[in-house]
Amino acid sequence: MEQPIERTQERIYHGLNIPSEVEEVRARARHFAEHEVAPVVTAMEESPERVSSFPADLVARMAELGLYRIPYSSEEGGAGLGTPMLAAAVVMEELAYYSNSIAVIYDCQCLLSGRVLQYASHELKMSYLPHIMSGRKIACVAITEPDAGSDVSPASIGTTAMPDGNGWRLRGRKRFIINAPVADFSFVLCTVDGSLSMVVVDLKQDGVYVSPPDRKLGMHGCLTADIVLDGAYVPATNLVWQAGKGLRIALGALTRGRIAVGASGVGMAQRCLDLSVHHMKTRRLFGRALAEMQHWQFRFAEHATHIAMARDLCYKAALRHDYGEEFPEPETAMAKFYGTQVAADIARDAVQVHGGYGFVSRLGADDTLYAVERLYRESKGPEIYEGTNEVQKWMIARQMFGR
Ligand SMILES: Cc1cc2nc3c(=O)[nH]c(=O)nc-3n(C[C@H](O)[C@H](O)[C@H](O)COP(=O)(O)OP(=O)(O)OC[C@H]3O[C@@H](n4cnc5c(N)ncnc54)[C@H](O)[C@@H]3O)c2cc1C
Repeated sequence: MEQPIERTQERIYHGLNIPSEVEEVRARARHFAEHEVAPVVTAMEESPERVSSFPADLVARMAELGLYRIPYSSEEGGAGLGTPMLAAAVVMEELAYYSNSIAVIYDCQCLLSGRVLQYASHELKMSYLPHIMSGRKIACVAITEPDAGSDVSPASIGTTAMPDGNGWRLRGRKRFIINAPVADFSFVLCTVDGSLSMVVVDLKQDGVYVSPPDRKLGMHGCLTADIVLDGAYVPATNLVWQAGKGLRIALGALTRGRIAVGASGVGMAQRCLDLSVHHMKTRRLFGRALAEMQHWQFRFAEHATHIAMARDLCYKAALRHDYGEEFPEPETAMAKFYGTQVAADIARDAVQVHGGYGFVSRLGADDTLYAVERLYRESKGPEIYEGTNEVQKWMIARQMFGR
């Protein structure tokens, strides 16, 4: 297990007006991450992606701890918090501090999926939301296809629903879908009568094939895979909202997801900062501590400032969402792009300041573990998923220059 180190966040970041209920959520998520995720993260990330390596115990524990209920109102059976998205962003930050795999599983299980259900009929919502919150069933959201990622226009999406009795048969292929190899159901973006629509698909039925998990640069603890739909049946009641609303629903889900992914970047960046500060204070060369060298002082002063800015952006986007904005732009796009970019940038410097120790994950001589190598690999993914950072900049630009 990695050695505990000081969290600089407590000394150098001052959150203003953070509700006490959110601080309670932070404490709960942090305790779980520190005591249950941190001890197993190395083993989890050292194993290649396999269905058998899915961290089912941790996923179940998050349900026991009530973490999946955090985004929801008490009427829905949720935690009923005043600022649920802010609280969920804080959970993402705390989980990603130790494991971005666990953070992204959390995001897909209750933030993306649950947000799709907020557009659904009461009956449809109530037939899935309790399973999401209890963790009894695993959810995923399938938007991307082999030939449609950033571009999810009706002309690009190839998954189609053909009428069959009181429902549809789905044909198409989805790609890179987090949780797919272990999921019970998926929210699938498809075309119904030529217009983009969102449906809920039971994955445990004939006509559904899920590929073996992809092998990735990092985040081995979370599984992505293709979902092949070859005549899978979807009852008419599983259409979310109405035909033609698929893009609006997807963008609504991704609004929550992008705030959450920005916050996961903040968590990873904070971990890189803390590990680097610890190393710089303890590593001595040329008769003094690395921390006394002004080049690195300035680099990490800059990183600390970027982290504070990224965290503020995420909290602001989350609060605007909590105050009722369906699409709180441009802050959501800014939070996603900036939070994830800050993580990737600091991870590169964290490796550099660790010297050779930044490039190894486990020292052969004595099994000492070093986490920055993993953070360097792990921080790349969030710059790509839930809308690439270029797409986020495009969205910000649209706010300035129009469509
Ligand atoms: C680890 C991981 C998990 C994922 N999980 C899911 C999931 O659970 N569900 C799901 O549906 N999808 C998921 N994805 C897919 C992800 O959302 C897509 O990979 C992403 O949206 C990019 O799409 P693409 O890969 O097709 O790249 P493309 O869309 O082909 O983009 C290629 C490049 O072009 C750039 N580009 C695109 N548009 C513009 C523009 N207008 N101007 C300039 N540059 C542009 C992009 O930024 C990118 O650099 C996941 C991906 C990964 C890597």
